[in-house]
Amino acid sequence: MSNTDYDIIVVGAGPSGIFTALELLIKKSKLKIAIFEQGKSLKQRHCPKIHTNKCVNCKPFCNITAGFSGAGAFSDGKLSLSPEVGGNLPYHIDYEKVKSIIDYTDKIYLKYGADTKIEGIDNLDLIKDIRKRAIFAGLKLVDCPIRHIGTEKARELYLKIEDTLLSNGIELFFNHLCDDLLVTNNECKGIIVRNVLNNTKSQYTANTIVMATGRNGAGRLSNMCKNYNITHHAGTVDIGVRVEVRNEIMEEINNALYESKLIGYIPPFNDKVRTFCQNPGGFVSQENYDDGLAIVNGHSYKDHKSDNTNLAILSSHNFKDPFDRPIDYARKVAEMANMLGDGKILVQRYGDIIQGKRTWSHELIRSNITPTLSDAVAGDITSAIPFRPMLNIVNFIKAMDHIVPGFAGNETLLYAPEIKFYSNRIDVDKSFMTNIKNLYVLGDSGGLTRGLMMASVMGVIMADNLLARISI
Ligand SMILES: Cc1cc2nc3c(=O)[nH]c(=O)nc-3n(C[C@H](O)[C@H](O)[C@H](O)COP(=O)(O)OP(=O)(O)OC[C@H]3O[C@@H](n4cnc5c(N)ncnc54)[C@H](O)[C@@H]3O)c2cc1C
Repeated sequence: MSNTDYDIIVVGAGPSGIFTALELLIKKSKLKIAIFEQGKSLKQRHCPKIHTNKCVNCKPFCNITAGFSGAGAFSDGKLSLSPEVGGNLPYHIDYEKVKSIIDYTDKIYLKYGADTKIEGIDNLDLIKDIRKRAIFAGLKLVDCPIRHIGTEKARELYLKIEDTLLSNGIELFFNHLCDDLLVTNNECKGIIVRNVLNNTKSQYTANTIVMATGRNGAGRLSNMCKNYNITHHAGTVDIGVRVEVRNEIMEEINNALYESKLIGYIPPFNDKVRTFCQNPGGFVSQENYDDGLAIVNGHSYKDHKSDNTNLAILSSHNFKDPFDRPIDYARKVAEMANMLGDGKILVQRYGDIIQGKRTWSHELIRSNITPTLSDAVAGDITSAIPFRPMLNIVNFIKAMDHIVPGFAGNETLLYAPEIKFYSNRIDVDKSFMTNIKNLYVLGDSGGLTRGLMMASVMGVIMADNLLARISI
């Protein structure tokens, strides 16, 4: 076991982790910083599916979610510029502060090459009309200006950030998985890491340990919470589907808003159901978790467009007593869908769901819409998704049809499972420190954020807080 001391150790090189380091550089800090990331450098991160046309289950980690820039690298790169979107950070610290740091962080993204165009702020008459239809359908339209980077440009942008960090002395350890924490007397003093290429273990110490391990690392972090009594509580879990329709159906809403953020409390259960991550001309994609789960997602390129638009419809669920493990519940749902799809993502036509039948692959071929996830398996998602979320999704689609005529068409495709595992909410103070001294949790891993901008904002605030603490 070797020993190396740093001022700050960041675990996870997703947006929250890298913006902590970047902001420290911007503020000209002289702190000695190391980032440990289980995945690869961005230059080495490639999803083989581009060549194989099907997911090959990259080992040890999925290239879509692990590596420099985390889940951001192959994301659609939609930066939500409203504090209302992307998690609960504005309700944990000061709302106005979050708003101003969104502006600040947005300028950093612009400096690294994000598109200067903001979507969803023109076409005001059309937006007014869409809102009117949303009210009629019992849904709320949330205003959220979007800066769309695009999947291929997001990669270029984060590559420049990786180069900045490396050329300014930040030590980036790729292929290094944080297996455990060094905790004594309720104080975190370092981490134990495993080099996944040669399986050797090392330990590193620092004054500040920042866990920024994203949704991908939620399982391991949850075990650390149990082992070290890190205070946390069960949060919400989102169970849903990825819907895909032809661009013609979504044209009006795509042009006016790019992304429609619609929320409803849908009868009969009145659970919160919402749209999420809309991708005009986009592609449905698959992400794989370390435990082998295949989860559906979506993204879109800036220039290379498909004939379809995809978006998620997510139904939020809470569990408290006697069962309080939402991640486990959602995992079971995903396992069931994966089992029925023989390890692949399942796809079913909306009309077949309403008629109570599965979809066959020959029925997909004769549709107007060609699935952009080419290796999705036609089948029956209703056999995997429990009654309550399934009914919520169907009723939400019916409501959406008032806003977007044709959305509830027979050929509309529903892919499953789309699950968001941001459930364990780790208790942190206003500086993001847990009840374990010097141990901080950032971004999606702590349950406070669920998007690129908010995770990046949390990184910026983390750095500023650290600098303020040091200067006292
Ligand atoms: C396909 C896809 C598309 C998306 N599109 C958008 C979008 O358009 N707009 C938007 O706002 N959001 C989008 N998101 C969500 C967004 O990417 C995340 O909210 C954001 O990346 C969270 O940042 P983070 O830093 O908290 O975690 P992550 O980005 O998940 O990064 C965490 C990093 O930690 C590493 N890690 C985990 N555990 C360990 C460990 N034990 N040791 C070492 N390293 C570890 C992981 O490999 C990963 O690189 C998308 C997500 C996906 C998967």
